[in-house]
Amino acid sequence: MSKRDFYEVLGVKRDADAGAIKSAYRKLAMQHHPDRNPGDAAAEASFKEVGEAYSILSDADKRAAYDRLGHAAFQNGGGNGQGPFGGGGFGGHGAADFADIFEQVFGDAFARGGGRRRAGPARGADLRYDLEITLEEAFTGKDTAIKVPTTVNCERCDATGAEPGTSVKTCETCQGAGQIRRTQGFFTMQQTCPTCGGRGQYVETPCQACDGVGRVRKTRELKVQIPAGVEDGMRIRLAGEGEAGGRGGPPGDLYIFISIRPHDIFERDGPNLYCRATVPMVAAALGGDIQAPTIEGGRAEMHIPSGSQTGRRMRLKGKGMSKLKAGGARGDMYVELFVETPRNLCDRQKELLKEFCELSGEGCNPDSDGFFRKVKRFWDDVRGDDEPRASA
Ligand SMILES: [Zn+2]
Ligand SMILES: [Zn+2]
Repeated sequence: MSKRDFYEVLGVKRDADAGAIKSAYRKLAMQHHPDRNPGDAAAEASFKEVGEAYSILSDADKRAAYDRLGHAAFQNGGGNGQGPFGGGGFGGHGAADFADIFEQVFGDAFARGGGRRRAGPARGADLRYDLEITLEEAFTGKDTAIKVPTTVNCERCDATGAEPGTSVKTCETCQGAGQIRRTQGFFTMQQTCPTCGGRGQYVETPCQACDGVGRVRKTRELKVQIPAGVEDGMRIRLAGEGEAGGRGGPPGDLYIFISIRPHDIFERDGPNLYCRATVPMVAAALGGDIQAPTIEGGRAEMHIPSGSQTGRRMRLKGKGMSKLKAGGARGDMYVELFVETPRNLCDRQKELLKEFCELSGEGCNPDSDGFFRKVKRFWDDVRGDDEPRASA
């Protein structure tokens, strides 16, 4: 099926400004809204079409892409692939997305699904809780308990806000609808009822414990499972564990923000761990076994090949962090070697090293030999044919 041009769908010129696009969309969306055309499939298709056109043309970036590439800009991957804007693309636009756009433009006074929406009891606020853990805890995972200052439903009034023995009355201003109509000139406007704040009800005698709010402050203790492999900056959502809504409103969610304390020995990059091991010069020269620390608290044997240099990275497979949702699979550990030059030598040791030096022929120190050759060439070039410079 060939798609109509978005500008044509909205009936605007290609250079129309944002205001013109919005008002064209308003007009057409009202005209084709399913509530006004029950059972009319053509109207519903038009409603979706204008919604899609508006979702693209109202966004400066998407509009620019559309101007450049036309519909092709949003058709990569047929809806589940990555479009030019990453995650999801636009092919998969469902009716729900258009409902969101519709509400953004019109506010919720004219919501989908028929009747006027009552403000209803408010949802409780979402809460944030910051939790710092150690790298070891991130490795093993952790079950812990946290204390969260929050609000909970009032027990005295059973979250109604009404003092026990008294009742909740229907609001007389709006007859319980939560909305009132107000006429101004030619227009009739729908407005949230100022008497009851849109709830349609009011409390005659407020509950003494909660002052009629339906909820009270309390510190709750919650059990939290931190999964093994969790990373710094991740958040864990506990649905429904945020603040109580009060007077029948649904609770908010609790988000636990994880931060991981820096470790003395290990650095982490995703599933992998990095650490540095200092190796005596002789072991690095001759090769040998050393022990490296592991995140689970043990030691790992590691063989150092002879002739190892500072900066050499050894990989210990499967000794890294646990991976999230990987059923015990682990990343790797990388150990970077740091070769220590011996200090505080006794006379005998110095003698042996001098002897060692005299024995060192071509090829023992290929890097430094090469380096000095390069530097010598540089000095020769700098001096050129002039007289040798006086040394400073
Ligand atoms: Zn109460
Ligand atoms: Zn009212």
